[in-house]
Amino acid sequence: MALTIKSASDFAAMRRAGRVVAKIHEGIREAARPGVSLVELDAIAARITRDGKTTSNFLNYHGFPAHTCLSVNEQIVHGIPTARRLEEGDVLGVDAGAVYEGWHADAAFTMAIGEVPPRTRELIDATEQALWAGIERATIGTRLGDIGHAIGSIAEKHGFGIVREYTGHGIGRAMHEEPQVLNYGRPGTGMKLRKGMAICVEPMFNLGGDATRVLEDGWTVVTADGSLSAHFEHTVAITPDGPQVLTE
Ligand code: MG
Repeated sequence: MALTIKSASDFAAMRRAGRVVAKIHEGIREAARPGVSLVELDAIAARITRDGKTTSNFLNYHGFPAHTCLSVNEQIVHGIPTARRLEEGDVLGVDAGAVYEGWHADAAFTMAIGEVPPRTRELIDATEQALWAGIERATIGTRLGDIGHAIGSIAEKHGFGIVREYTGHGIGRAMHEEPQVLNYGRPGTGMKLRKGMAICVEPMFNLGGDATRVLEDGWTVVTADGSLSAHFEHTVAITPDGPQVLTE
């Protein structure tokens, strides 16, 4: 079960970790352009993690070798930063996390490198819209099925595939805690959110079908049909004042 954030100082520590994640996003967003390699982008994350007096919860996670997951085009999540250079028209997913005083934050965004076709832009925009639709419902007493439904119905409206094998999650003293936060669901079903919980809301939509597979590197998740994919994520605390996004 997800740990409950009980004290103001714990909340502040988690928010501090979240701010560093937001800075990593900002640094990578500014640097990402055609010709830049994925390892160069990961080095930016390493520097910002250090400067923020945080540690990385991605590095060495079950042996993961980097500070970020960088997933290009048909890669959905968990892409390993390599010497690959970005090209005009690529779709780049950036996922990063940080830990401060034992509290974790985790967030992701997807961006186009230069110009992309309108349907690709629609995929990126709809996935981000679904993120915020899910976050909006992250309030005390809401059920997880309500969040999943809010997210999934946006994919359905646009005719995009919904990644089902990977999900959002609880977060706190560990990066991945209970419960799973699905990107589809039935309203009024599933666990009720309680005050002090924190969850990662993270829609992953595909231009094509839902199905995924993992590459031989053991990490990189790609769409089974090779279609483009987009991923957005924030760490959100459930509070009496409503959802508090900790990673912006
Ligand atoms: Mg996550």
